[in-house]
Amino acid sequence: MNASLKIDLHTHSNCSDGALSPAELVAQAAAAGVHVMALTDHDSTDGLEHARRAADEFSVHLVPGVEISCLWRAQAIHVIGLWVDPCGATLKTLLRSQAELRRTRMRSICQRLSNARLPGDMLLAAVEAKGGVPTRTHLANAMVASGLVARTADAFSKYLGKGKAGHVAIEWPALQQTIGAILSAGGVAVLAHPGRYPISGGARRRLLDEFTAAGGTALEVVSGGNGAQHVESCTVLALKYGLAGSVGSDFHGPQLAWNPLGRSLKLPDGITPVWRGQLP
Ligand code: AMP
Ligand code: MN
Ligand code: MN
Ligand code: MN
Repeated sequence: MNASLKIDLHTHSNCSDGALSPAELVAQAAAAGVHVMALTDHDSTDGLEHARRAADEFSVHLVPGVEISCLWRAQAIHVIGLWVDPCGATLKTLLRSQAELRRTRMRSICQRLSNARLPGDMLLAAVEAKGGVPTRTHLANAMVASGLVARTADAFSKYLGKGKAGHVAIEWPALQQTIGAILSAGGVAVLAHPGRYPISGGARRRLLDEFTAAGGTALEVVSGGNGAQHVESCTVLALKYGLAGSVGSDFHGPQLAWNPLGRSLKLPDGITPVWRGQLP
């Protein structure tokens, strides 16, 4: 593998909560000098076909991916599947169920917002009009558009986060089932942004024990806005658990200018790249 390749294995399109269409995303990645990218929409592989066509056009190497929400001991965890076959039957069934869980949760959240005297019906209509799998980002954007909050972050801190009026817990599938679906689709399971879960160091080690036991093989060592400290602690964990390393911006759109596609995503020396042996 050429060390100078620019690689970004965690991005979102408007098939989930990204701002760009899959084709626009690939075009922007190419313009940013990205050579290898994964499209990893939340619980959806719907954008992969359009992304692949654009990748052919712009000579970008596209890795087919998905970011799946799951549960580990009541904690929501995100697992990225890379090199997944979107036609894999078990994965398809899981993603269909995820989309339904998301639609049901969105209706419950909006009902709760209505109960709290907010315009829940209008917000639900705005989210549903967007298409794709509904995420809380869509709802936060609708709250900004209707003037209820100034910024999406405020929608989470005031209404959508834990303990707030619009919070609805969701019964995501178990970590093991999720990794199983990724593996059965020929993919590689990567623990996304390991530093973002509010769990203790001990719990993180138990999570990694179970993640590896279930067949997970990589950690997102370099992730979006996480700094050098995150990279260092993930490097220690990857070496301890014999996990490969992945790199990804978690790009959601150009509006977050501090988090561009392919931003300084260099894997530390000594970590086995998750893409080793996978690239032409
Ligand atoms: P969901 O998967 O529907 O629960 O939505 C989670 C998405 O919301 C994440 O993927 C982030 O893109 C976004 N998100 C989560 N927390 C925040 C926050 N505090 N501010 C802005 N966006 C957030
Ligand atoms: Mn997101
Ligand atoms: Mn995530
Ligand atoms: Mn993501």
